[in-house]
Amino acid sequence: MKFEELPLANPLQRAVRAVGYETPTPIQERSIPSLLEGKDLLGIAQTGTGKTAAFALPILQRLLDSGKFRSPKTCRALILLPTRELAIQVEDCFKQYAQFTAISTTCIFGGVGDAPQKRNLIRGVDVLVATPGRLLDLIGQKAVSLKKLEFFVLDEADRMLDMGFIHDIRKVVAMLPQNRQNLFFSATMPDEILKLASTILRPNPVQVEVAPQSTPIERIRQELYRIDKRRKGALLKELLAEHPEMKKVLVFCRTKHGADKIVRVLEKAGIKCAAIHGNKSQNRRQEALGNFKCEQIRVLVATDIAARGIDVDDVSHVFNYDLPNEHETFVHRIGRTARAGKEGVAISFCSPDEESDLRGIEKLTRVKIPEGDKSIYDKLPPPQKETAESMMRNSRGRMSREEAQARAAETREKHSHHGNRDNRRNNENRENSRANMNVENAQAHQNAAPVRQNQPKQENGERRHHRRNRPGSRARRRMREAQSQG
Ligand code: AMP
Repeated sequence: MKFEELPLANPLQRAVRAVGYETPTPIQERSIPSLLEGKDLLGIAQTGTGKTAAFALPILQRLLDSGKFRSPKTCRALILLPTRELAIQVEDCFKQYAQFTAISTTCIFGGVGDAPQKRNLIRGVDVLVATPGRLLDLIGQKAVSLKKLEFFVLDEADRMLDMGFIHDIRKVVAMLPQNRQNLFFSATMPDEILKLASTILRPNPVQVEVAPQSTPIERIRQELYRIDKRRKGALLKELLAEHPEMKKVLVFCRTKHGADKIVRVLEKAGIKCAAIHGNKSQNRRQEALGNFKCEQIRVLVATDIAARGIDVDDVSHVFNYDLPNEHETFVHRIGRTARAGKEGVAISFCSPDEESDLRGIEKLTRVKIPEGDKSIYDKLPPPQKETAESMMRNSRGRMSREEAQARAAETREKHSHHGNRDNRRNNENRENSRANMNVENAQAHQNAAPVRQNQPKQENGERRHHRRNRPGSRARRRMREAQSQG
């Protein structure tokens, strides 16, 4: 099927061509016709399937068809998303698809001042993309009302619940007018989500399920490098230096501290990069993401939370600098590459203490990750021995403090065992040589010093005592005895 075959108005067809789409993805092919008929939709799909266009294009079409106009401080379509990044991303998509129409869009989210957002709402807006908290806040301030709403989209519903937005969602739903078209998307559909969906959707919605999680994995070329923690930075640097085709690289690590450290290592090597994580301001995160999208920086380092739902086209390589301990996260991470039918490479670093995570990931994905080119190891500095202290330092963010302390103690104990064993061995050697000496002495001095030959090994005190009994001191003792008798 081609986009031209879908009943979309000319300005939308033009926009689709302008963004470079030729054929609709499965979710688009299956959702767009029903949505254009005004039906409700329950979609089981994750990012990367093309679901944004699957709901944005028919909503835009129906907004154009309805002949209605926006009123001040209202919106006609509301798209609710869990994070600021996702909200900005989805509004970007709407803007692109609506670029040849007069449809207006805006985006509201927390963590930034609300004055510009309120200004954008004064004259009303066709499409409002929002996170729940800021939406309720602005509704409370009477900056926007939902009474004229025609289309409601709840996207990433499972994440919304994970992030504790259920009460906010219920509050928003309670404010919606009865007569509306509803779209509900979630990557997973446990009972709790289905229950929520049933409170939002009209009976018998169209159901569309696409892209089970295993599908993208088969398209992604994977490589594994077994490497100790301390040399992961050097390995990343070396791989980036050797492979100029790694153009748009997303590096995942577990901690904010770790992300900053990677950036420092790469910057030192002259590689343009930036980090996004919870400690960075919203503006810094957007700036980093923007620079990455337009390839001003080559590497974006992200923690899993900050990277949720990031949509960047053409990510050429995803690095798992640290393996995630939640194995499903691995699937989400590597799914950032090989999107929309494109090729992608995922490279995973595995340190000795991550072997069990690796096994879990391979079991979940049913893929044995092949090892990468081993000649790269020759170009790295030699491994350094891991000490108890370095284990403590490196384990930050991976293990609980207690766990790290226990492991450090284990290592110390192992070392001290080795030490004891070595000491024992040395003592044994010393004993043996002493015994040999004694045998030699015994043979050499059999007649001259019969008593000393058979002397057991003596402690210092005994030796001192023995010295007192030596012939030289006998005269002095006699003198003392004579003095005391006298
Ligand atoms: P989404 O699942 O909406 O986050 O989309 C994932 C990526 O696929 C985005 O970068 C879209 O620009 C891209 N995309 C969506 N639909 C198509 C299509 N029909 N053809 C090619 N790329 C698409």
